[in-house]
Amino acid sequence: MNIHEYQAKQLLKGFGAPVAEGVAITSADEAEAAARSLPGPLYVVKSQIHAGGRGKGKFKELGAEAKGGVRLAKSVEDVVTNAREMLGNTLVTAQTGDAGKQVNRLYIEDGADIDRELYCSLLVDRGTGRVSYVVSTEGGMDIEAVAHDTPDRIQTIDIDPEAGVTEANIAEINAALKLDGAAAEDGAKLFPILYKAFLDTDMSMLEINPLIVMENGRLRVLDAKVSFDGNALFRHPDIKELRDETEEDAKEIEASEWDLAYVALDGNIGCMVNGAGLAMATMDIIKLYGKEPANFCDVGGGASKEKVAAAFKIITADPNVQGILVNIFGGIMRCDVIAEGVVAAVKEVGLEVPLVVRLEGTNVDAGKRILNESGLAITAADDLDDAAQKIVAAVG
Ligand code: GDP
Ligand code: MG
Repeated sequence: MNIHEYQAKQLLKGFGAPVAEGVAITSADEAEAAARSLPGPLYVVKSQIHAGGRGKGKFKELGAEAKGGVRLAKSVEDVVTNAREMLGNTLVTAQTGDAGKQVNRLYIEDGADIDRELYCSLLVDRGTGRVSYVVSTEGGMDIEAVAHDTPDRIQTIDIDPEAGVTEANIAEINAALKLDGAAAEDGAKLFPILYKAFLDTDMSMLEINPLIVMENGRLRVLDAKVSFDGNALFRHPDIKELRDETEEDAKEIEASEWDLAYVALDGNIGCMVNGAGLAMATMDIIKLYGKEPANFCDVGGGASKEKVAAAFKIITADPNVQGILVNIFGGIMRCDVIAEGVVAAVKEVGLEVPLVVRLEGTNVDAGKRILNESGLAITAADDLDDAAQKIVAAVG
């Protein structure tokens, strides 16, 4: 689960990280009061969407000359003017895709005088099985280019879970970021704070880009992007409340209500599968035959008829879906339950696209009989290869 920058900053502030004062607003009428509550004379007006690259982003409705999704303002009036221009418009960044994201909320922040922009993130390094700091002196809006062109400027420091963040780790991170004096003192406080926040809230990623050294020599968290491990959210009801469903795919929200593993993708073949491995193999083989999957949908092991029907309805509701492939290997999952779920869903919402079904395993004969007797226009397939070729041919 992702959260907005202003929420991430509030969270980190609670752990003691240095962040600027700021106010989140959802209407331009609130902009003046928000700005007046800050010290000034420099302000930042920041689009709150679940995507990075906002600074370099462009608003669809405004000309190419217009400024991006993160703007400096030098007066209260300037804040208000920018807020009016930005709110409600669609910001397109390198991470939003061409459709962009509508900016429904702005964060009005006290502006900082920047000396240097650094990069600091924490993530779970699967290679070492540890939480790692990934740091670079080359932070800011071009970090992707740094990673691509000069990867040696990015350093990884991993943390021994038994020892936590040690003095030696801090010295290493401070050296990698070339911090000294007050900034190094701030670093010695900040780096363990970030680690604690990461562990305590079950984050899967915490990215601060940029972490800045201000002209007064102190550190400040200028941007913050946080993702939480969805499987650990049950432990954090307070964090669950930070969820902004308007930022998420409606189909994924509905799927999560049914506890389905569903991810929307860009192609046009809907897939209903049981087991993540089979789901990946199914997506691969669709690609092998020249098409793209519209989703990754795993109904899991012991799904009920209702859950199968819900999954099928979510898939058919996607206007990009031009054909559906049901690929089930019944182990714990029974083929007759799958068949009943599919038939129930089609009776309710109809079926306007080709449907290829490959069933194998427990109660396969009963499953096939239910499908045959349903009178639905279903193409049966013998195996995975056959199924993929049939659905690709049917979609054309
Ligand atoms: P992103 O483009 O979505 O990553 O948004 P950021 O929050 O990282 O802001 C983009 C850029 O705006 C930063 O890299 C800074 O260069 C600039 N910026 C953001 N806040 C301030 C500020 O308080 N003062 C100054 N001078 N620049 C800022
Ligand atoms: Mg940033």
